[in-house]
Amino acid sequence: MVNVAHTLENLHTERRTFKPPASFAAHANATSYEYKKAGVDRLEYWREAALRLSWKTPFTEILDWSDAPVSRWFHDGTLNACDNAVDRHVREGRGDRVAFHFVGEPGDTQTLTYADMHVRVQQAANALVSLGLTKGDRVAIYLPQIPEAVVAMLACARIGAIHSVVFGGFSTESLRQRIDDAEAKLVITADGGNRRGQHLALKPLVDEALASHGEGSAHPGVCESVEHVLVVRRTGQDTAWVEGRDVWWHDAVDHQSAEHEPAWVEAEHPLFILYTSGTTGTPKGLFHSTGGYLTGVAHTHRIVFDLKPESDVYWCTADVGWVTGHSYIVYGPMTNGATQVLYEGTPNSPHEGRWWEIVEQYKVTILYTAPTAIRTFMKWGETIPNQYDLSSLRLLGSVGEPINPEAWMWYRRVIGGDRCPVVDTWWQTETGAIMISPLPGVTASKPGSAMTPVPGISIDVVDDAGRPVANGEGGYLVVTEPWPSMLRGIWGNRHRYVSTYWNHFDGLYFAGDGAKKDVDGDLWLLGRVDDVMNVSGHRLTTTEIEHALVAHPWVAEAAVVGAADEVTGQAVVAFVIVRSDADGIPADGDEVASALREHVRRQIGALAKPRTILVVAELPKTRSGKIMRRLLRDVAEHREVGDVTTLADSSVMDAIRSGLEGGA
Ligand code: ATP
Ligand code: MG
Repeated sequence: MVNVAHTLENLHTERRTFKPPASFAAHANATSYEYKKAGVDRLEYWREAALRLSWKTPFTEILDWSDAPVSRWFHDGTLNACDNAVDRHVREGRGDRVAFHFVGEPGDTQTLTYADMHVRVQQAANALVSLGLTKGDRVAIYLPQIPEAVVAMLACARIGAIHSVVFGGFSTESLRQRIDDAEAKLVITADGGNRRGQHLALKPLVDEALASHGEGSAHPGVCESVEHVLVVRRTGQDTAWVEGRDVWWHDAVDHQSAEHEPAWVEAEHPLFILYTSGTTGTPKGLFHSTGGYLTGVAHTHRIVFDLKPESDVYWCTADVGWVTGHSYIVYGPMTNGATQVLYEGTPNSPHEGRWWEIVEQYKVTILYTAPTAIRTFMKWGETIPNQYDLSSLRLLGSVGEPINPEAWMWYRRVIGGDRCPVVDTWWQTETGAIMISPLPGVTASKPGSAMTPVPGISIDVVDDAGRPVANGEGGYLVVTEPWPSMLRGIWGNRHRYVSTYWNHFDGLYFAGDGAKKDVDGDLWLLGRVDDVMNVSGHRLTTTEIEHALVAHPWVAEAAVVGAADEVTGQAVVAFVIVRSDADGIPADGDEVASALREHVRRQIGALAKPRTILVVAELPKTRSGKIMRRLLRDVAEHREVGDVTTLADSSVMDAIRSGLEGGA
């Protein structure tokens, strides 16, 4: 008997379903055979996926799980990730295909073919070698979203160096921690980047991080591993210079020979280190392999995004500093020979139609973005996208947070013209590649559900005792079998790897997210287990209440937290942003709050009715756009606000705090 006493309550119901359009299904890369094949022999399925890569030495073993929970995939094969992402296309006659349409925020553009990328990665690889880098060395990359970021990552991969990309825009302190944790020998940065019409300096933050080492400093011994700083000139702003340490990218790279033999690495050779976004606490430095990782990202990119490399123009709006940029801008799409848009700036520079202008101009066919962006566009109103021709789009994707059903519907209708399938893709930095998603052309979709595990991935929802819950119930999301692109660990800390992911349920990977199975067995992600609220003995998730709030025509965004309450244990506190095109919205915040409280009661039930609703202008988000509920909880419980190093805009917290105190 399944013990349901402690699993998550499952309150909200969504019944809309969209079948895959027949016209899409007729040409889709994936068919239902995909699920069948993986169901019969999972390892054989992954072997076939791995064989689509270009291997220098073929592998003979698929999975070695003898050192669980560290897996080894295809471990006796050798390959190179840069060779797969670039050289192979040139070798096989696809050099003239555009790899990137780059759009800078100020309006500068570049068109880079695979042949162009081939020259650039070889020159950059030679430059890295001349700076003394070799296989296994770590390189910190702290760049804006410009082609050099992609080239730098691939050049590292080419020589077998391990990159650690740090978001341009993270503070000196975050950068210092990451450089130190990986003991990076080289930092690749730029003078600055363009952000909302401003030049955002980057190099001074690197200088500050590095200057702090040495005697008498506040951080002696810090960042001593760094020998050189390679600096891309992007904005042309003045930059301090440390002779002997700092090198301009154009000086180091441009005169290099455009011939470089890739380092053929073992499949298990680490490709990169990347830190999680820090939504639930201190970021974790995860590392990924080469062969298994590349297999996972290339395969999922092909079947989930239905990429037709000859005709599609694919645009993933993520930053390369986030795992989505690694897997679904650099390694997956490039391995598949995709033509992509790469955009440096923000969605509202210089105007709120910028993205749609880019879609129209480059005839983007596949768009992959995050719920936070979609909700922002809802807030700005649909008249903006309606001014552009978006008819080239044929598929829409979402990642990063649970997508509210109303945001999903808006995305489908306003951006996708009611014709494009929407794929809600669940995955994590840890999983490397997409784990749960509909396959367009095969799987029906439901607004707000990521539907089913992709073929070859085994996922379940379990109760406190690790037993699968029945359909219609909620619990913890776990992965039950190893998969090729799974993390290989936390850099330098096997113990933390085991205790974070493998100690909760015997033999199961614990994702840290809550989920429910609906009556059909389809999966609904319910947010972080850390965010679960206990209201009068009922375990409620933030996601369902947020979904209900966003379903109200006035609301663009909502964040819900549980705050300590003498009567109920915890009480629901909601922070909402209203839509600028909302009709009939009262000017008085209290009236808005009481109408919304009543709306939640009607939609879900009295249990979920927020005690407090606060109308705010902004929500605290990470640089990757995720809402940081733990900070809102700190505010709601009148505590010192926790680790804010990955927050995009720290002034948001002050504004919210003063608003709450004013309203309390
Ligand atoms: P940290 O682990 O440091 O708290 P993080 O979990 O935010 O950071 P990421 O690896 O970037 O860092 O995010 C993965 C998480 O994002 C998932 O565990 C999940 O909570 C959320 N997520 C991603 N995609 C989806 C999705 N499609 N639906 C629901 N949640 C999603
Ligand atoms: Mg996480």
